[in-house]
Amino acid sequence: MTRYNPASSRAEEFINDQEILDTIEYAQKNKDNLELMRKVLEKGKKQQGLTHREAALLLECEDEQILAEMFELAKQIKERIYGRRIVLFAPLYLSNYCVNGCVYCPYHQKNKHIRRKKLTQEEIRKEVIALQDMGHKRLALESGEDPLHSPIEYILESIDTIYNIHHKNGAIRRVNVNIAATSVENYKKLEQAGIGTYILFQETYHKETYEQLHPTGPKHDYAYHTEAMDRAMEGDIDDVGIGVLFGLYKYRYDFVGLIMHAEHLEAKFGVGPHTISVPRIRPADDIDVSEFPEAIVDSLFKKIVALIRISTPYTGMIISTRESASSREEVLEIGVSQISGGSSTSVGGYAEKELLEDNSAQFDTSDKRTLDEIIYWLMNSGYVPSFCTACYRAGRTGDRFMALAKSGQIGNVCQPNSLMTLTEYLLDYASPETKKLGEQLIQKELAHILDANVKRRSEEYILQMEHGSRDFRF
Ligand code: SF4
Ligand code: SF4
Repeated sequence: MTRYNPASSRAEEFINDQEILDTIEYAQKNKDNLELMRKVLEKGKKQQGLTHREAALLLECEDEQILAEMFELAKQIKERIYGRRIVLFAPLYLSNYCVNGCVYCPYHQKNKHIRRKKLTQEEIRKEVIALQDMGHKRLALESGEDPLHSPIEYILESIDTIYNIHHKNGAIRRVNVNIAATSVENYKKLEQAGIGTYILFQETYHKETYEQLHPTGPKHDYAYHTEAMDRAMEGDIDDVGIGVLFGLYKYRYDFVGLIMHAEHLEAKFGVGPHTISVPRIRPADDIDVSEFPEAIVDSLFKKIVALIRISTPYTGMIISTRESASSREEVLEIGVSQISGGSSTSVGGYAEKELLEDNSAQFDTSDKRTLDEIIYWLMNSGYVPSFCTACYRAGRTGDRFMALAKSGQIGNVCQPNSLMTLTEYLLDYASPETKKLGEQLIQKELAHILDANVKRRSEEYILQMEHGSRDFRF
């Protein structure tokens, strides 16, 4: 039997099946122990995070009062560390050729209903210009795995193309990359190409289920996939983003696995994940959601988000347009700090709206609002939309970023940076209604900047932006 070791390099030791099962058993045995739950909540209030056992215990909680306190704590942590800021990004799909057989994804190799597409560099230019014209500054690059159609050289060339497109006042300042697990050598190349975060979802931590859901292709190899973040960090990528696709397997197992993965990165590299994404199974071409009995309902989803927030306070949390507007609204309050907006999940879907019969989308988007509508909605709900990419550009990544985040100082730069980038958006892309609301919000937020020097500089920069300058950051 393999033993649990969070600092191990081996998947079966840091995501140890027996430890997950023992944790679930421990949590279920104690599900009526309200005193123990209160103790764990008290620990959570110190904002130093929770262990996977503690988090699993709270996941079993059904006591109304403790649940209310749990949501309140998640809200407080969110507010203290991230304020009211919400960072915006957009996915960019490069290619849907894929040699894998993931049963929940329409890009799987055997699906003959979708047209396969791979963007040329010229098509990428068009997509990026369309994204810049919406106001986006931060992208998440997505591509199926196919050594023939999208080798690492293609991804690197595409990143270079993206960073070099400057249309009007537009610029993509941070390219996060979500591509298949690869070698240390390739991660080094991605790092040298200047990527922001490397994102890879585990899908499910349950090995047997993982192997069934990925019956063919290189992704079938559970250990290679699960150890990918270790190789990324060995390849000098400081910021990695993890996540599971909730609904593929039992949520308790995957929740514990997710927290253990974060603990592993912290134990081995001294830096936890930069982000955690919380996607859920959604309908798509060739995918029948009713085939996934483990799909989770909204109330449970909300509990999971709150517990991730309490367990890993310094990790950004991402939600996509798979979620409906109302579901997104609920989880923004209790933990989510980044959302996508105005997204297309099709290859080439920004420059040209797809014909229905030519569908190449990876999944249906529930939230179909434009970016401008999302910005208006966020501000109207009391949030400050941000297009900030400052940390990565200033070298504040990995442990440097975590040190600032843990000391609480990061907010001192996040706050003015959100106002700088929101000003750019309002000047260059906003509708008149959004602009009006945004200008009022910026005046209100400027008054909340405590440091007199930062406040003065922010006001100066905004004035300079009104006269045509761009790209100020702290
Ligand atoms: Fe390919 Fe990724 Fe879809 Fe799997 S999830 S079929 S690897 S694109
Ligand atoms: Fe993110 Fe850093 Fe910008 Fe804050 S200052 S929003 S942490 S990039």
